[in-house]
Amino acid sequence: MKKVRTGIGYDIHRLDEGRRLILGGVEIPHPKGLMGHSDGDVLIHAVIDALLGAMGDKDIGQCFPDTNPAYKNIQSTELLVSVAIQLKQRDYEILNIDSIVIAEEPKLGPHIPAMKDILCPILGLQIKDLGIKAKTREGLGDVGEGRAIAAWAVATIEAPA
Ligand code: MG
Repeated sequence: MKKVRTGIGYDIHRLDEGRRLILGGVEIPHPKGLMGHSDGDVLIHAVIDALLGAMGDKDIGQCFPDTNPAYKNIQSTELLVSVAIQLKQRDYEILNIDSIVIAEEPKLGPHIPAMKDILCPILGLQIKDLGIKAKTREGLGDVGEGRAIAAWAVATIEAPA
């Protein structure tokens, strides 16, 4: 009998000037972007941690350490491709992923279809099986004051018997 497993992921990165804003693999016009060793894509990082957690693996920081120059400025989509390959090699199937991106600015809703168009083929998911929701923090805290963007993700996978 196959087993269903769940993983949760969370990430937050600082916003700073002079960086491109990449979320869900999509470049979004904004005066600030996310700091990070990679492209700082918090949504993909949260999704990766949810998938690694569901597989029972170590977290993203241990699987792709920022001390390894190979990961400097890497596109997070490349990291996601590598996790998707691991899932496939171990006979796991993703049933669905749900996620929330928390950002005060810019408005992310209009960019969600483009994010799904990039992420679903990598994950082998249909559009309906990848949830991406955009929320604000109502002006509260670091995210609410526009100094950071955070993301949560939950992944459900089917494991081989
Ligand atoms: Mg991160």
